[in-house]
Amino acid sequence: MLRKFEDAYKHKGLRNGLTDKLRLKGIKDETVLKAINTVPRHFFIPSEFEIHAYEDKAFPIGSGQTISQPYTVAYQTQLLQLLVGDKVLEIGTGSGYQASVLLACGANVYSIERHASLSKQAATILKLIGNQNLNLKVGDGTLGWQEHAPFNKIIVTAGAPSVPKVLFNQLIEGGFLVIPVGNDTKQKMVRITKLAGNEIKTEIFEDFSFVPLIGENGWQ
Ligand code: SAH
Repeated sequence: MLRKFEDAYKHKGLRNGLTDKLRLKGIKDETVLKAINTVPRHFFIPSEFEIHAYEDKAFPIGSGQTISQPYTVAYQTQLLQLLVGDKVLEIGTGSGYQASVLLACGANVYSIERHASLSKQAATILKLIGNQNLNLKVGDGTLGWQEHAPFNKIIVTAGAPSVPKVLFNQLIEGGFLVIPVGNDTKQKMVRITKLAGNEIKTEIFEDFSFVPLIGENGWQ
């Protein structure tokens, strides 16, 4: 059966509730909160979980992967301090929800996913929503996307064993890389800033639990 995608008042009401919850959990960036309040997260979730789309939870999306929890999406996006027109590289397109939130914040998004089936599914939904300024690619995101570098911001949505140098190299001076770093069950959110003369500033934030970043500069 063909799935019907509809964004009804019911969904908008549930999104308001989710946005309020994220505010209470400490998300302050109004651009991010507005994006969460705009993007129909239920479009990115398998139909059997659709009624739970506006709970602050992660869900399976196929290929053993998950759509990140809204709090995690908001938290990472807030750390990026996005400006309209920022060129953003995302590693781990997954469902496409995080990419859609970045787009709603006014970013130009380049997103890489290693599973072709997920990338294809994400492309369908993102097209349906009508997002422009989006480029998707299937491949190993730990290598970055050299043809489009440098980026203002880079966001990694899978847990890395360390910070891939190649991603740092693809940032502009003053750019941010937000990446969860740790082991396969728990990671610390890290924000790297590329300073003048390739100096690195590292800030460490809360604990999260992501699926592993698998690739040449990730887990093997
Ligand atoms: N941002 C996604 C979260 C998906 S979970 C969302 O909003 O739904 C992380 C994703 O990273 C998974 O889909 C996984 O397949 C992908 N991934 C893991 N390692 C990768 C790599 N080296 N390159 C690209 N994608 C990768």
